[in-house]
Parts: sequence; C-alpha cells; structure tokens
Amino acid sequence: MKLASYWLDTAPPFTGGIDAPVSGRFDVAVVGAGFTGLSAALALAKKGASVAVLEAGEVGGAASGRNGGQCNNGFALDYRSTAALLGEERAASLYHAYDAAVDTVERIVGEEGIACDFRRTGKLKLAAKPEHFDKLQRTFEAVSRHADPDTMLVRREDLGSEVGSERFFGGLVYRKSAGMHVGKFARGLATAAAGHGASIFERSAVTRMRRLEGAAHEISTVRGTLRADQVLMATGASMVGPLGWFRRRIVPIGSFVIVTEPLPRDVLDRLMPTRRMATDSKNVGTYFRVTPDDRLLFGGRARFAVSNPLSDEKSGKVLRRALNATFPQLRDARIDYCWGGVVDMTADRLPRAGERDGLFYSMGYSGHGTQMATHMGTVMAEVLDGRAERNPFAGLDWKAIPGHFGRPWFLPFVGAYYRLQDVLH
Ligand SMILES: Cc1cc2nc3c(=O)[nH]c(=O)nc-3n(C[C@H](O)[C@H](O)[C@H](O)COP(=O)(O)OP(=O)(O)OC[C@H]3O[C@@H](n4cnc5c(N)ncnc54)[C@H](O)[C@@H]3O)c2cc1C
Repeated sequence: MKLASYWLDTAPPFTGGIDAPVSGRFDVAVVGAGFTGLSAALALAKKGASVAVLEAGEVGGAASGRNGGQCNNGFALDYRSTAALLGEERAASLYHAYDAAVDTVERIVGEEGIACDFRRTGKLKLAAKPEHFDKLQRTFEAVSRHADPDTMLVRREDLGSEVGSERFFGGLVYRKSAGMHVGKFARGLATAAAGHGASIFERSAVTRMRRLEGAAHEISTVRGTLRADQVLMATGASMVGPLGWFRRRIVPIGSFVIVTEPLPRDVLDRLMPTRRMATDSKNVGTYFRVTPDDRLLFGGRARFAVSNPLSDEKSGKVLRRALNATFPQLRDARIDYCWGGVVDMTADRLPRAGERDGLFYSMGYSGHGTQMATHMGTVMAEVLDGRAERNPFAGLDWKAIPGHFGRPWFLPFVGAYYRLQDVLH
C-alpha cells in the first residue's frame, strides 16, 4: 500500500514551473497553486495580465490533489439549513452558483483540452438511518421546488439500481454532479496557465507580505522576493506563512481516503451500477466513487485528526472497516493507496471571498471545492478587474472562531460532538 494520493501518483507530472529565483514585478501575485489559484492564474493570463503563482509545495499538492474527486453541485451543508440561515432567495442563488461551478470545470476542461476523465455521473446522497431518509425527502421537496428540478428521490426498495449495499435507507440523486481525475485536472490547469504565460514558482512559500507606498505589494518567499500590483490569497487551509487573520476563521480538518486495487467490471456493476459520486448522510460520514481505472475510492473524516503519514495510516484502518461494512463483497480486496488531506472548513460551511486590507482572497470551501474553488478562481479574476458584483459570496459575515488562534486544539471535542449527533439523530 502506498501512503500517497492516488490522483497525484497517476497523473503526468507538471513540468512548466519556473526554476529561477522568485523576482520581478507582476500585475498579479497569486499565493497558492490549488484549484483556486491555478484557475485564477489561467483566467488572468488569458486576459493579458502578467501573473506569478507562488506555491509553498507543488502544484495541486494540497487539498486539490488529495480529495475524493467528486465535482458536485449542491451545498456542503443541507439546502434547508442554508435557506434557514440566509433566506430562500439567497440560498437558491448560491445553489445555482454551485451548478455554475460544475459548468466552469467542464468549460475549462473543454477549452484547454485537459484529459481528466470529467464525466457527469450525478451524485447520490445516501440515508445512513431511516430518519435520515425523511430528511432527504424534505430536502428533495425544497430543492426541487426552489432550486433544482434535476434531482430524484430513490426509495430503499429501488436503491439496488444505484448501489449494491444493504446499509442505506434510500437516496437523493443530484444529476448535474460530475466526477473527474483531480490530479490530472490540477496539473492540466497548471500546464494551461503556464501555457498562457503565468509564471508558476513551486517550493516558494510566502513568508512575508508588505504594502509599499502607492498600491503595490512586496512579497517575500523562501526563494526570493517579487512585487505585484494585486494579490490573491488562494491558500486553502494553510498552516504556512503570515496568514493569521484567515487562520482564525478557518478550521483545518483532516479528511482521509483509501483506494482499492482495480476491481472486475462485473463486481463494480453490482456495487455502483450508475457510477455516481456517493456520499452518506452522517456528520462523520463516508463518500465513495469508482476511479477511471476501476478501483473503489472510499473516504471520510474517519478521525478528527490532522493529516500526517502515521495519522493517515490509522485513519486508513478506520476507513477499511467502514468499507467492509458498506461493501462486505470487498472484504478481500487489496488497498493500494491511503492518504489524508486538510479541509478548509468555515463555521457555516460556506466559502468566503472578497478583499481585506488590499488583499483579495477566496477560500473556506468546506469539503466542496473541486468545482467551487475552480469557479471562484475565474470569478476572482473578474473581481480583481473591478467586477466585485460577480462574487456570489459577497457580503457574508466572517467572524473569527472563538478560541481559535490558528492551531485546531479543539478538534477532538468537535469530533466527539459530531459523533454524538450521529448517534442521537
Ligand atoms: C481528503 C479530502 C477530500 C475532499 N473531497 C472533496 C470532494 O470529493 N469534492 C469536493 O468538491 N471537494 C473535496 N475536498 C475539498 C477540495 O479538495 C478543496 O475545497 C479544494 O481543493 C480547495 O482548493 P484551493 O485551491 O482553495 O486550496 P488547496 O488545494 O489547499 O491549495 C492551497 C495551496 O496554497 C498553498 N499555500 C498555503 N500557504 C502558502 C504560503 N504561505 N505560501 C505559498 N503557498 C501557500 C498550499 O501549499 C496549497 O497548495 C476534499 C478535501 C480533502 C482534503
């Protein structure tokens, strides 16, 4: 078993980075080369701006290359909870932003010719308890009435056509959702951005940022310093560099994934006949999908812990037990990959984007960013160009999380709380 992301291990390498020291003057500096930063760099470079992307590690090396590969419409949180929080009209409009986000990924894949197995499979949300199906039914009624008629409720007796598991009590299908190979997409996006003229500096962690006289910024990295007129922070759940204000607003939560050996087609046809992107309804739940080369990818929060090789392996064992419980047919299947990543969670699980003290930012996708991060990169390219009204998340309040000073000391307590909720509800 490899303790590595299957997506990054099976994608062609990115070879378009700049080896020279970081220096020069640019129209825009983008900090972070995940989906947000890379799609912003691509859109800005296509507009003719000079762009430098400063990445602490490698392109797509954080959440963007380590996720579940689900490119879903719909919210991270339940539709009805979002409507209760923001009102019906805003909830419907944000829901449509997620539809647009899947469209953005599909458009970029087509325009840039990125071979990343993008496919509109649909998403299947599965009820893990009988009472969860009642909730799914109420969500279906609200979503189909106010936001998305392209959804379908599946009762338990019909669920065999969707998933070969006895564990679930019905499901809700969101047909606009898609799946893709996120390693190929991330590196393809980087190649496209570099091809349109963006300068991508890997292994260039930003260590200091300073506002100069006038409007320009000076940005110091471990590989040199540059100047830029505008800066976009696309740093996700970053624990590196001078990002304290953001860090106090984002909870970095570990999420873990295992991937089996390639499985026979007839087995997959029984387990996942529609090949949808599946997720269950628990707070500490699981998600799964078939990879383009016929493996089963199975992920979840497993443990409320940070990701490192030891932690990933422990979480992999928890996931293996959950996989066996979901699909006993795969009890003997070999696990080829196991890894973890960090989700940039906000308190209400909605992203935040805008400008603060002359720095633009977009982050906090809360486990729902393969599509929205990509979309927000293109949106932020327009916001930097003076079109603030394009930002669907404008105006959302963003308070610091009480007691959160950057290191998530409280994760075990959050985990215990959510596990209790799963037992009680
Ligand atoms: C295990 C896991 C499973 C997930 N599954 C799904 C899923 O199935 N579907 C879905 O929609 N979403 C999923 N997500 C969430 C999704 O991956 C993210 O929302 C999305 O990738 C965020 O992209 P980003 O570009 O904003 O951030 P990231 O991909 O995290 O990129 C941020 C980049 O900024 C860099 N950086 C940080 N600080 C600095 C600094 N000081 N200097 C320079 N660079 C810096 C980091 O190195 C990193 O590369 C999952 C996440 C995880 C971890």
